[in-house]
Amino acid sequence: MLDQIKEHVMNLKTKGASYVDTRWYPFEESNSLVMWNGNLKDANYSRESGIGVRVLYKGAWGFSASSDTSDLTGLYNKAFDNAQIAAKRVSLPVRLAEKDDIQASFSSPNCINPMEVPLSDKVAFLKQIDNQLNQPGVFQRIALLHFIRKQIIFIDSEGSEIEKQITEVFAEISVLGQDEQGETHKRSYNLGQEGTDTRGWESIDPQLFSENAERIVAELNQILVAEPCPKDDRAVILLPGIMFLQTHETIGHALELDRILGYELAYAGGSFVTLDDFGRLRYGSEKLTARANATLLNSPGSFGYDDDGIPCQDNVLIDKGILVGAITGRQMVEEANAKAHRQIFNGSSGANRATSFYRVPIERMTNINIDPGADGNLDDIIAGTEKGLVMDGDRSWSIGSNREQFHFATEIAWLVENGQKTQVVKNPTYKGNTLEFWNSLSAVGDKSTWKLEFVSNCGKGQPNQIMQLGHGVPVCRFENVRVGE
Ligand SMILES: [Zn+2]
Repeated sequence: MLDQIKEHVMNLKTKGASYVDTRWYPFEESNSLVMWNGNLKDANYSRESGIGVRVLYKGAWGFSASSDTSDLTGLYNKAFDNAQIAAKRVSLPVRLAEKDDIQASFSSPNCINPMEVPLSDKVAFLKQIDNQLNQPGVFQRIALLHFIRKQIIFIDSEGSEIEKQITEVFAEISVLGQDEQGETHKRSYNLGQEGTDTRGWESIDPQLFSENAERIVAELNQILVAEPCPKDDRAVILLPGIMFLQTHETIGHALELDRILGYELAYAGGSFVTLDDFGRLRYGSEKLTARANATLLNSPGSFGYDDDGIPCQDNVLIDKGILVGAITGRQMVEEANAKAHRQIFNGSSGANRATSFYRVPIERMTNINIDPGADGNLDDIIAGTEKGLVMDGDRSWSIGSNREQFHFATEIAWLVENGQKTQVVKNPTYKGNTLEFWNSLSAVGDKSTWKLEFVSNCGKGQPNQIMQLGHGVPVCRFENVRVGE
């Protein structure tokens, strides 16, 4: 099969294509289980395989994909036909940034293949957690597991040959309860990196889930009897359980280069960032350094090589508050440099990814992280706060179409009064304008506050592509934030 693919790739080159690549998925497996109030509500397993072909001809892309690999000639001809037809209408010819040809392999670090763990073991784990969540105050309890495993072989006409084995493990437990007024409240826990270097079935640590089950039930019961969140301007101290989402929505999505160039406008919106802003725009206080780091161990945002065949990198996006980088692939960096009439980007940052063989790669977040700071641990930050809210857990979010403003509700918040964390409040919310908010960043926690959170379901593109990624974030404090409305 591999030899045939290489032959077809080179054949289209001789027919006049300027670039050809192929992503062959020998297999792609997904397994998810949901335990809801003690009942196994869902247990899904799917497996597919297939091949996707991209062809660049006279500056236009052609794409074709199929799960039927019996007629490779037809598949490659279709992609080439599509490119030839598109080439007649192309207004801005596609150019690809230079890259090295690479022969390599990558495997997500894992010990126990979750697909080989018996269903009975998975159900037993969920049942045990469910029992633990079944306590006074809780009227709905949900525990879910989601596993993804795939093999991807990438071949291109520039001599690259890359094999990837990707394993993903996601897990979430949550509890819902009703307060005296009949209003529903929620508290949840999501598996993140938790200090483990591997992410097979072994990362489903019963002890870890047991501790967090106890904690979220106790916190839910505090929320149920809490006073409402105050409505005023104050400091907010965001824990990683909401800080990841703040970073995702107002740094990550805003800095996808295709979005900056207007390609997502019809669907998920654009970005307030313009090409003029790189190297110039103040995107946060001097305490803010954000990066796209796809080289971390054990994260869905680390995948070895992207779907352009570019190695994963660690790139600074915002350097001490100044915008310097973006989330990029080979095509968009060339287009952006041409449109800006200056060299903003020096090659691709290795962030072009497709959700499967039947979709084309687009710019996706890797691990969009905030560097730990020098403002101590969580207690230190609270001690230095006169009037504030400590917030955690994402409950709802609403974002401006160009990511210029936002409104988030969190699951829980604690008041901070004169340097002391005091009572829990319910229905906490905060909102702001993106740049004003990041510029008000007044404290960044040290490494002890930093946690790598996983995102299993980021959506982007038309047709929609779901992608997995990560956010490594410390505890951060922002000043004069409107809360409670
Ligand atoms: Zn997203």
